[in-house]
Amino acid sequence: MTIPENVRRQVSEEANHYCEYCKTSSRLTGTPLVIEHILPRSLGGSDDRSNLAASCYRCNEFKGAKNHAADPESEQLVPLFNPRNQLWADEFIWGNDGTHIIGVTPIGRATVIALRLNNENIVEARAIWIEFRWHPPLAIE
Ligand SMILES: [Zn+2]
Repeated sequence: MTIPENVRRQVSEEANHYCEYCKTSSRLTGTPLVIEHILPRSLGGSDDRSNLAASCYRCNEFKGAKNHAADPESEQLVPLFNPRNQLWADEFIWGNDGTHIIGVTPIGRATVIALRLNNENIVEARAIWIEFRWHPPLAIE
């Protein structure tokens, strides 16, 4: 089943055109966000709005069919960040003036690793955006 265009647009608009995981602006990358199934379809996730998030292409790829990952501190398997049930600012903070995302909870730490939120490509891009004061986003929920 495909997600209707109006729902795709709504999901992206409600996220202010930022990836709900790494907070990259689709307007800075010039690449449209994709619709991410929070609980992957392969694990029974639905196309319901409550299971959809706006995601950049890379976060969506790295998340794949995962729904849990290990917290690097406790090595416990924990759920990945769910943008519908949790607030980004409760799970993550910006580090190093905004080049890095730091997980501040087991969920945050596991998600940073699993989705490679600090992969070298995005860290390099963030450093440039910071110079122009385009990053980090000012309003984060
Ligand atoms: Zn992302």
